[in-house]
Amino acid sequence: MQTFKCDYCAQLLFFENNLCIRCGHLLGFSIEEGDVLSLKPSNDSSDRYVDVSDPDGAQYRLCQNSIKLNACNWLIPANEPDEYCMSCRLTDILPPIQDETRRIQWVKVETAKRRLLYTLIDLGLPVPSRAENPELGLAFRFEESTPEKQVYTGHASGIITLNMAEANASFRENAREKLGEVYRTVLGHLRHECGHYYWELLVLPSEKWLPIAREVFGDETVSYKDAIERHYANGAPENWTDSYISAYATMHPWEDWAETWAHYLHMLDTLDTAASYDLVVKSPSTKGKNRRFKTTMRHHQNFDKLFEMWYSLTFVINGLSRSMGMPDSYPFVISKTVKEKLRLVHNIVSDLSKN
Ligand SMILES: [Zn+2]
Ligand SMILES: [Zn+2]
Ligand SMILES: [Zn+2]
Repeated sequence: MQTFKCDYCAQLLFFENNLCIRCGHLLGFSIEEGDVLSLKPSNDSSDRYVDVSDPDGAQYRLCQNSIKLNACNWLIPANEPDEYCMSCRLTDILPPIQDETRRIQWVKVETAKRRLLYTLIDLGLPVPSRAENPELGLAFRFEESTPEKQVYTGHASGIITLNMAEANASFRENAREKLGEVYRTVLGHLRHECGHYYWELLVLPSEKWLPIAREVFGDETVSYKDAIERHYANGAPENWTDSYISAYATMHPWEDWAETWAHYLHMLDTLDTAASYDLVVKSPSTKGKNRRFKTTMRHHQNFDKLFEMWYSLTFVINGLSRSMGMPDSYPFVISKTVKEKLRLVHNIVSDLSKN
């Protein structure tokens, strides 16, 4: 993720900010511009805003989730009729947010969703709504389990459901330990589930990529039900790290694909962040040379270079985490087989995105 600058006072800004702490200007993210804009009210209408550095330029309105619930910082181009921004319009079911704890948890989930969408759009991947594609448009359902209905995080033909308990850190950590996972986050869940989505939207109908993906990840038409039963009865095979990014990926080719896809998005976003800080790294893996990270995402075509940069960076982020007494940010080991799986995701994204 890029960092941004206040158009008024040049203060460093983050993607999530909605107010400049230095000059007090209202901020909003424009997905069209790919930028956080510093805003002032336009002269001609009370609900319209303009960029302070371009007062005669495009006009914007705030998303209703920003106005009513302080839960969003994305803008709507003023000439569009919508009341909600592009990200909020993709949320189909909201959790109950009648108390502050639940509102905060919902905001966390929406914030992770906006980060996911930024990466998908930056990569040139299609993000159609259900209105645009009723059968296979993207929609998010953030639901809470009740005594009558257990909510499971998952994906079905464009509908991504997240169990809202995942926004609760103690629930998530408990589940992570119980399942023996090394990594569990809301953003990770969303990245994983959208991997299932792009399998269905892009890979399954592709005569070019489906046979290659099956060769690398296995035949996804084998029984999913049997795979779940086997996985929860026996666990992952002992030597799973030789071929899989996570124990969960061993369950079924679909899960292997989704776990690898999510990992690819982790890599790209983190590299993009390193690049935006102009980070220079010297580590054993760079053979003593300084490595300056370049902006990735849509600008990066060469997987080997991308992976080499990633490898160097992982030492740094884990080192920094340990300095803070935190667990490793990157608790993964990438085998040669997993690297080739990541390469395939990269090749498919590069080929099927609109860039
Ligand atoms: Zn400012
Ligand atoms: Zn919004
Ligand atoms: Zn899955």
